[in-house]
Amino acid sequence: MPGQPHRITVIPGDGVGPEVVRSAMRIIEAAGVPVAWEEALAGAEVFRRGDTSGVPGETRASIERTRVVLKGPLETPVGFGEKSANVTLRKLFETYANVRPARELPGVPTRYAGEGVDLVIVRENIEDLYAGIEHMQTPDVAQCLKIISRKGSEKIVRYAFELARREGRRKVTCATKANIMKLTEGLFKRVFEEVAAEYPEIVPEHLIIDNVAHQLAKNPAQFDIVVTTNLNGDIISDLASGLVGGLGFAPSGNYGDGVAIFEAVHGSAPKYAGKDVINPTALVLSSIMMLRHIGETAAADTIEDAILVTLEEGKAVTQDLARQTGGDIEHAASTSGFTDTIIGNLGRLPETVPPRTGSERPSGDAMPKPRWSYGPERYAVIERRTIGLDVFLEDEAPIDALGPALEALAGDVVRLEMISSRGTKVYPGVDAPTDGVRLWRARFVARAEGTAVPDAELLALQSRVAARFPGWTHVEKLHVFDGEPGFTKAQGQ
Ligand code: NAP
Repeated sequence: MPGQPHRITVIPGDGVGPEVVRSAMRIIEAAGVPVAWEEALAGAEVFRRGDTSGVPGETRASIERTRVVLKGPLETPVGFGEKSANVTLRKLFETYANVRPARELPGVPTRYAGEGVDLVIVRENIEDLYAGIEHMQTPDVAQCLKIISRKGSEKIVRYAFELARREGRRKVTCATKANIMKLTEGLFKRVFEEVAAEYPEIVPEHLIIDNVAHQLAKNPAQFDIVVTTNLNGDIISDLASGLVGGLGFAPSGNYGDGVAIFEAVHGSAPKYAGKDVINPTALVLSSIMMLRHIGETAAADTIEDAILVTLEEGKAVTQDLARQTGGDIEHAASTSGFTDTIIGNLGRLPETVPPRTGSERPSGDAMPKPRWSYGPERYAVIERRTIGLDVFLEDEAPIDALGPALEALAGDVVRLEMISSRGTKVYPGVDAPTDGVRLWRARFVARAEGTAVPDAELLALQSRVAARFPGWTHVEKLHVFDGEPGFTKAQGQ
């Protein structure tokens, strides 16, 4: 007796999207999975209609109902919407975990073939520079805020460890730039170390992100799960796709507490749109992740095995793969022909690689739903003090005039500790100032070192600075939390 159909929102998307999505839907139906598809719009067509979010209300409502999305790539048209509809979708539904497996496939030649590459990049999907909070500080200086929260870090790190536990994986590597960004990337690393202690059977490892890129190129098989912040993850997950055959083979899942969105890593590849030549494997592999998420494990294994058989036998080869192997591009398989071959191989098991059907590795039910544990209680017990202020301002004056002018504004309670330019101290006592860009940071601190400065003093200081320097642009309070400075020193300080 067939069960109740799964309700799934399907967004065909732009460019080659409808072709690869149709391919995945046909294969899922051929595998006998009962699905009630809710087709929904997002992307270019929506922008053209004048909806600047790219994601209309009906689509949001459908996702609220189904909580599962299979999605083709969405174009970000220049001149229509301002924000990417992809990023909007991920953020609207708080899909904080971007999971990108990179697994060696039979019949797909790469430099690493035979080394057993089988890794997963777990990328934080909401925070970091992708919060998209940018401001021009002066007409010539731009700033993007890098937001890293303890909660966001803990959710993704816990997700990575739960995934490792569920898949029987041995090691989780945390990739950060904590050596340079000690507070933001450093927070992510500290949370990783705290959470790792709860998973004693899994080996935790921390590597600097640039070394991870180097190690991925040199010996990718050493990695199991890599967990990292948003921008780092964006870059190294594309790198990882390249290790196992490229964008035609790179799937992904975006998981939140309530909603999961499955899509290929690739974009809309407009030059191939409507030509029936694109490789659908990436989207089909993404749909396999989706089937596992909704508990259709057996169908997921059957489809994955059919893909492995198809690639291993090499009777149907898509254009991209033919190009990589020096094969016959003229007679390469079409998208629909390749899909037919996969459907014809449903029920067969691969011979040169271990089949997924009957595999020991649990690749089971819904993906882990980690809890975060740092509630308001922790907040309440923290001793906090504000011991000064950083004021950012634009000014034409040379530093040896600017320094004394700012010192004169300090007052009785605070003193000017230093001025920096792009993070490097330039005042006082620096003989060779750096090549500044006329955006300065003036750091004022309590004259009685480390003591709290009342807000009234800080606001009065701010007013004095603003009256003298109309180019002031923003301020940052200098906090001390539980005795730990919540700010970094300048280079050379
Ligand atoms: P792209 O669409 O991924 O295409 C770049 C190139 O990758 C293609 O020209 C093709 O290479 C290859 N490729 C992509 N998908 C392939 C597949 N299924 N099989 C084989 N080869 C494939 O990247 P783009 O041209 O930079 O972006 C186009 C649009 O997509 C942009 O509007 C962008 O914003 C959007 N985009 C959307 C998403 C998303 O929805 N998640 C992701 C990325 C980009 P060859 O030319 O060598 O054949």
